[in-house]
Amino acid sequence: MSIPPDIVIIGAGAAGLAAATELGQAGLAVSILDARNRIGGRIFTLSDPVCHAPVELGAEFIHGRPPEIWDLLKKRRVRVKEVDGDNWCVQSGHLGKCDFFSEVDEILKQMDDQTPDESFVDFLKHCCRQSKTNRRLQEAKERALSYVTGFNAADPSQVSVHWLLKGMRAEERIEGDRAFRAQHGYADLIEIFQKQLLNAGVSIQLGIKVDSIHWRPGNVEVRANGSTSFAAPRVLITLPLGVLRASTEENGAVRFAPDLPRQKKRALSKLAMGKVIRVTLRFRERFWVRLPKDRRKGSKTLAKMSFLFSQDDCFPTWWTTMPERLPIITGWAPFRCAERLSGQNEAFVVEQSLQTLNRLLGVSTQELESLLQHAYFHDWQNDPFSRGAYSHAKVGGDGAQAALASPIENTLFFAGEATDISGHNGTVHGAIASGRRAASEIQRSLRRGDDGLTRPG
Ligand SMILES: Cc1cc2nc3c(=O)[nH]c(=O)nc-3n(C[C@H](O)[C@H](O)[C@H](O)COP(=O)(O)OP(=O)(O)OC[C@H]3O[C@@H](n4cnc5c(N)ncnc54)[C@H](O)[C@@H]3O)c2cc1C
Repeated sequence: MSIPPDIVIIGAGAAGLAAATELGQAGLAVSILDARNRIGGRIFTLSDPVCHAPVELGAEFIHGRPPEIWDLLKKRRVRVKEVDGDNWCVQSGHLGKCDFFSEVDEILKQMDDQTPDESFVDFLKHCCRQSKTNRRLQEAKERALSYVTGFNAADPSQVSVHWLLKGMRAEERIEGDRAFRAQHGYADLIEIFQKQLLNAGVSIQLGIKVDSIHWRPGNVEVRANGSTSFAAPRVLITLPLGVLRASTEENGAVRFAPDLPRQKKRALSKLAMGKVIRVTLRFRERFWVRLPKDRRKGSKTLAKMSFLFSQDDCFPTWWTTMPERLPIITGWAPFRCAERLSGQNEAFVVEQSLQTLNRLLGVSTQELESLLQHAYFHDWQNDPFSRGAYSHAKVGGDGAQAALASPIENTLFFAGEATDISGHNGTVHGAIASGRRAASEIQRSLRRGDDGLTRPG
C-alpha cells in the first residue's frame, strides 16, 4: 500500500500548479489529480505548424504586469511582447479608427461603490445624464456595455458594479491597460511550472475524473473514475466555478459528503460563470491590409489593426497577432453570442465567424472561404471540466469570493480564479495568486499543528 500524500490537489490549472509548486518546494508530499489528459486547464496553447506561432484556445493575454506571471517569466528569460497596433470600430456600418478603451474608461470611472450595489445595466440607466443629448457620450455608453459584456463575458443585467470597480482598481495597480504575450504563449508559463513541479517531486496524475469527496476533519477520501480512491489528511480543491455549481448528476461534477456548508453554497449562488466562444482563423494571407476598399487617397488601412470592435450579434470583437504580422485573426463571441454558438459543431461556428467578417469588412464569404486554411476552436461551455469561461460576481456578491475561498475544518481548502480576493478573478494571475494564498493557508495550518499531520523538515 502506498503512503498517502500530505496534500491532494484537485485540478492542474494555474491555481493548482502554483499551489503545488509552493507546497512541494516546502517539502510536503503533494499529489495533483486532473480529469484531463493534459495540465493547464483553461490555459490551452497549440502551435500553428505553418506560422510557427502559438494559438491559444483559452487564456491569451497577460493583462498588465502582474508579478505572479512576470517574475516567473523573467527568471527563465522568456521573451514577452507587448500588444500594439491600431484599434478599429464598426459603427453604423462604417469602419473607422477609434479610441475604444479611452471612451469606455470615461464611463467606467463613474462607477461608485459607496452606493448600494447594482447591475451594470442599471448603472448605465442613471450614469452620465448628459448622454441623452450628447451623441458621443451615448456611443461611449454603448461601447462600455460591449466592453463589460465582451471582456468579462458577463450578463450586464446581472454583473455587480462593486465587483467591476474592484477589478478596475486592481488592474490599475498592475498597468492592466497594457497587454502582453509570451513568446510561445501561455505554454511558456506551463512549462516553467512543470519543471518546478518535477524538481519538487510533485506527482501529477492525469485522466483522473474526481466524482466525490468524502471527508471528516483531518481525513479525506477522493473517489474518482468510478473505481479509484485517494486518501490524504488535506485536500485543495481548485475546480472551476462552473464545475462546483454543476448538479451532481452532470458529467464532471463533484459530490461532497458531507455536503458543502450553507455559506459556501450561498457564495456559489452569488457568482456566475461568463460564457465565451473564441475561434482563431489562419488565412493564406493578411487580406485585411488592403482594406477598407473604399478609403480616400492616403487614408489608413487595416495593416496595423490590433483590435476590431463592433456590435455584431455573432463575433463582435476580433484581434490580430500584432505586433507579429501573421495571417491569423481571432473572433470573440461573449455572453448571448456564445449561448447561440455553444453546442454547435466547429463547421457551423467557423461559418458564422466568416459571415461576421463579411459583414464587418465587406469581403465576400466565398473569398474568405478560399483564403481560409485552418480554424482553431474550443467550446468551454460544453467542456465538462470548465463549464464556462471565467467567473464574475452578481449584484450583491460582495464577499462571495472570500466565502468560497475559506477553508473548512483545516481539511478542505479552496483555490481557483473564482476564489481570488484581490480583484483579479477571471485571469491567470488571479488563479496563481489564489493557489499561493491556499498554499500559505495549508502551511499555516500545518505549523499550528491542528492535528497530527506530517510536517516538513
Ligand atoms: C476563452 C478564454 C479566454 C481567456 N483569456 C484570458 C486572458 O487573455 N488572460 C487571462 O489572464 N485569463 C484569461 N482567461 C481566464 C484564465 O484562463 C483562467 O482564469 C485561469 O486559467 C483559471 O485557472 P484555474 O486554475 O482557476 O482553473 P482551471 O484552469 O480551469 O483548472 C481547473 C482544473 O480542474 C480540472 N477539473 C475539472 N473538473 C474536474 C474533475 N471532476 N476531476 C478532476 N479534475 C477536474 C480541470 O480539468 C482543470 O484542469 C481566459 C479563459 C478562457 C476560457
